[in-house]
Amino acid sequence: MYVYADNAATTAMSQTAIDAMLPYFKDNFGNPSSLHSVGQAAREALDNARDKVAACLGCEAREIYFTSGGSEADNQAIISAARLGARKGKKHIISTAFEHHAVLHTLAKLEKEGFDVTYLDVRQGHNITAQQVKDAIREDTCLVTVMYANNEIGSILPIPQIGAVCREAGVLFHTDAVQAAGHLHIDVKEQNIDMLSLSGHKFHGPKGVGALYVRRGIALTNLIEGGAQERGKRAGTENIAGICGMAAALEEACAHLDENAAKVTALRDRLIEGLSKIPHCALNGDPVNRLPGNVSFCFEGIEGESLLLLLDMKGIAASSGSACTSGSLDPSHVLLAIGRVHDVAHGSLRLSLCEYNTEEEIDHILAVVPEVVQYLRNMSPVWRDLQTGKRQYIL
Ligand SMILES: *Cc1c(COP(=O)(O)O)cnc(C)c1O
Repeated sequence: MYVYADNAATTAMSQTAIDAMLPYFKDNFGNPSSLHSVGQAAREALDNARDKVAACLGCEAREIYFTSGGSEADNQAIISAARLGARKGKKHIISTAFEHHAVLHTLAKLEKEGFDVTYLDVRQGHNITAQQVKDAIREDTCLVTVMYANNEIGSILPIPQIGAVCREAGVLFHTDAVQAAGHLHIDVKEQNIDMLSLSGHKFHGPKGVGALYVRRGIALTNLIEGGAQERGKRAGTENIAGICGMAAALEEACAHLDENAAKVTALRDRLIEGLSKIPHCALNGDPVNRLPGNVSFCFEGIEGESLLLLLDMKGIAASSGSACTSGSLDPSHVLLAIGRVHDVAHGSLRLSLCEYNTEEEIDHILAVVPEVVQYLRNMSPVWRDLQTGKRQYIL
């Protein structure tokens, strides 16, 4: 048995999404900007896809811009709001300490240009409150950008409440909803969201395609210059197959949202309950307001990387929070942001489920993970020191 439990990293494509893409590789290969009927057939597919995405978010089709994915959508939303703010002398932005790097690195770039960014503390409940946002808003705040749900630890942020706070203060509100779209109920009008990013491959659509919702009247800044595609705001011949695949996947996910959430939540809760029995571990993320598919733990006395390799050998694809970049083993900024110390943050495990997972797969994970954790602890000098009292347990 091989269990794929890394759906926060990417998902398998649904048959619906694949079927929706195939015609645009061969028979219907036109360029939507062409005036002849081959081009116009592609134009029709593009319009149709835009309608579907808009229907899933509760907005108008003309408020949807297709992008190359979640990262590009995040970049464009934040840069656009910053440019609009700067024109009015407003150069303060509010975000959180546990955003995705697509947001954090864009904000870091703006800080170098003289913007001031407040990163809200996420240690309390591994989440933020709308009150924190309200308290952080200043005269010169031009943007609040906070994620809809966290990709590593699963916390769902109080988005409708934050939307209300921002609307009242007259501050633009962007949310990175890459983990939420197709998984949680989103209504951008009801929830007072001005800009929202999503990505096809996180809800059984293709990779390399995403969308940015922008409320009518907000002027976007181009990241890519060229032709007049996407209302002149994102140049380049449209990825028709990808866009159609993403729209079909989102439509399917939204049509089955409640039943999928109920199924996945039940699997998740069994997994959390079972893994909680492992001694000296802790659940990461908001225990109540939590993505249906997210299970995230820190285990004391082990290295997340070794755990992942052994789990892969035992037929489980999982993820650790830590990003191993350029040879340095830095623990995840998300786990550090919620207050995990370095040693503990290194021993992290994220299992992210979807509706394709089964009860039998959960049984397999519950049989394997405690055994592998114990095996690694038996070899760990840190664990020995904890047991002999030379080091103190934190968890
Ligand atoms: C995956 C992800 C992204 C990046 O999306 P891409 O389409 O891979 O660029 C951004 N934000 C969050 C929260 C994500 O999970």
